[in-house]
Amino acid sequence: VREAGGDSIVSLSKTTHKALNRKAVIEKRLLLALDQKNLKVLYQPQLDLKTGNITAVEALVRWEDEEIGVVAPDELIPIAEETGLINRIGSFMLERACEQAVEWRNAGINLKVSINSSVREFRDKNMAKSILDTLAKTNCPPSLLQIEITEKFALEAEAETSIIKQMRQLENEGITFALDDFGTGYASFRYMQLLPIEILKIDQTFISSLLQSEKTQRLIDGMVKFGKSMNLTVLAEGVEIEEQKDLLKSYGCDSIQGYYISRPVEPKEIEYMYSGK
Ligand code: C2E
Ligand code: CA
Ligand code: CA
Ligand code: CA
Repeated sequence: VREAGGDSIVSLSKTTHKALNRKAVIEKRLLLALDQKNLKVLYQPQLDLKTGNITAVEALVRWEDEEIGVVAPDELIPIAEETGLINRIGSFMLERACEQAVEWRNAGINLKVSINSSVREFRDKNMAKSILDTLAKTNCPPSLLQIEITEKFALEAEAETSIIKQMRQLENEGITFALDDFGTGYASFRYMQLLPIEILKIDQTFISSLLQSEKTQRLIDGMVKFGKSMNLTVLAEGVEIEEQKDLLKSYGCDSIQGYYISRPVEPKEIEYMYSGK
């Protein structure tokens, strides 16, 4: 052990140890939560700018553990991806989303439900089959399901064929795919070229700086035009104020999602919004 600088070495390793320990605790508690189906789902509306109607809702995972408290998705999802538990979160969210979509449809509420999937989940060769099985089990028409794929990861060569095949199979069944966080990754164009994407979700970091500069405005205007030229539905996420909505509408953006419409909420609140109360 060194004398000088010893402190900083010790404290660094303490920090690392603490982080590793938190990860291990989260993994352990998450396993339990999944077994007991102790996760929750909130829904955030997506609004069609032409009609002013809510046409879809995004399902977002929420987890409050009795020992470690609330674990936000931004912490939870990366750990779940690392540990492989993301597949189990994915199945849980899919099943809940399908059940909810069916419940709404039976009540005359016509909403698609959009779930988040990591391309990593599609590495599993049985992904498409297990999605179709869940749709069948819950009696959910495939047309009510949307799947958001993020472009955080590059497509890996070995997995590529299997991913493309499975996504095309699901598309043939009537499921729609959205490219999430558009503009932030490094694989967007490759994704768009290879995958059956129908919706482009412009990332909220662009929207949050929309009103700040003319340059950003031209950039986003260009993104919308680009999406339209590819025959895609363009959705802007993270819309918080009216001025952002107005500008996006003037660019020809199809739909918006964000606090301006609503935060992620319980199903009951979606029903109130849908019926215009
Ligand atoms: P995302 O898919 O881009 O989801 C949008 C995030 O932005 C959500 O955060 C939402 O609550 C938040 N948001 C929505 N509107 C606004 C707004 O107007 N302003 C601001 N500042 N934020 C807004 P959340 O729920 O914390 O989720 C974070 C990320 O975690 C998601 O980003 C998604 O990548 C991931 N995630 C959440 N749930 C799931 C899930 O069930 N499965 C997977 N694989 N990932 C999930
Ligand atoms: Ca998303
Ligand atoms: Ca997003
Ligand atoms: Ca995001």
